[in-house]
Amino acid sequence: MFVERLDKARSLMAEQGVDVLMLSVGADLPYFCGYEAMPLERLTMLVVPCDGAATLAVPRMEAPRVVERPEVFEMRPWDETEDPVGIVAGLAGPAAVVAVGDHMWSRFLVELMGAMPRAQWRRGSEVTSPIRSVKTADEVERLRAAGAAVDRIAGRLQRGEIELVGRTEADVSAELGRQILAEGHDRVNFAIVAAGANAASPHHEPGGRVIGAGEVVLCDFGGTMVGDDGVGYCSDITRCVYTGEPPAEFDELYEVLFEAQAAGVAAVAVGAAAQDVDRAARSVIAGAGYAEYFVHRTGHGIGTEAHEDPYIVEGNREPLAAGNAFSVEPGIYVPGRWGARIEDIVVASPDGPDPLNRADHRLAVVA
Ligand code: ZN
Ligand code: ZN
Ligand code: ZN
Repeated sequence: MFVERLDKARSLMAEQGVDVLMLSVGADLPYFCGYEAMPLERLTMLVVPCDGAATLAVPRMEAPRVVERPEVFEMRPWDETEDPVGIVAGLAGPAAVVAVGDHMWSRFLVELMGAMPRAQWRRGSEVTSPIRSVKTADEVERLRAAGAAVDRIAGRLQRGEIELVGRTEADVSAELGRQILAEGHDRVNFAIVAAGANAASPHHEPGGRVIGAGEVVLCDFGGTMVGDDGVGYCSDITRCVYTGEPPAEFDELYEVLFEAQAAGVAAVAVGAAAQDVDRAARSVIAGAGYAEYFVHRTGHGIGTEAHEDPYIVEGNREPLAAGNAFSVEPGIYVPGRWGARIEDIVVASPDGPDPLNRADHRLAVVA
């Protein structure tokens, strides 16, 4: 699998005129070689020449963490007294064009630019993103498994099996986190719990506010499930519940959101522009007079990273490809009052939209 992925990277590099790809901290490295760099001051770097063998330069003390895959990369452990930047520059050779991972720390990039003064620098994502954003059947199944896991948590939330009233947002968030792990994830990426007026802030930080009766509780949570090969795939779902009978005004808002989210999912088609999905959801919300309250794009790609290409946003004319996986998550946020969002992960497939989340989309009323 890693050999295949690196082969794809090399053909894209040849097409783009990139001599060397350098990957360090972030999601690219595990995707292409099964190893995740420790985000510390010691440099870890996979150096992939367009026409040569890949080498992983890694601090010697972290080398025991690396699963060796000689068919994928050679190891170049470096000692504490060595200069890793010089080693990486040496591995790159007289490369003219270098694509360097988007999440690599600037301190290393600045030093590398000094060590390779004649090189031209590009963003690594120009090479990695077109590959990562098209999921294979195996990757879709791993995303589906992660999606099914958070669906089970959403189901418990909707059936009132997760206590809300009288608890703080932070407390409920911690419980969602524990359930994310218990359901088979290896990492919790986020667990937003936003009650009442806090639900008007799309990325609300759960805090000490106690959840009361008769309010909306927006929960947006997900994690990463890491496979035996060291590569993790993410889940991400949003559902809202109401602690008690919602007022008619909120019901109306939610009905609009429900229709908008369904329209967004229905617009997912191979060959459609990414912005068409955004337009499909947004036009429903705008048509009902809530345009100013939908303050973010409709979705983001998901895979080994919780947010990656493709972005479902006005202006993204890129046609959706079979295997693109992304969220469809419109929201309506009325500052000072309340808000709501519904989010599913959807895969563009030749047969149409393939939603990976199946938890009920209706507003659940819990005691
Ligand atoms: Zn978000
Ligand atoms: Zn989310
Ligand atoms: Zn999301």
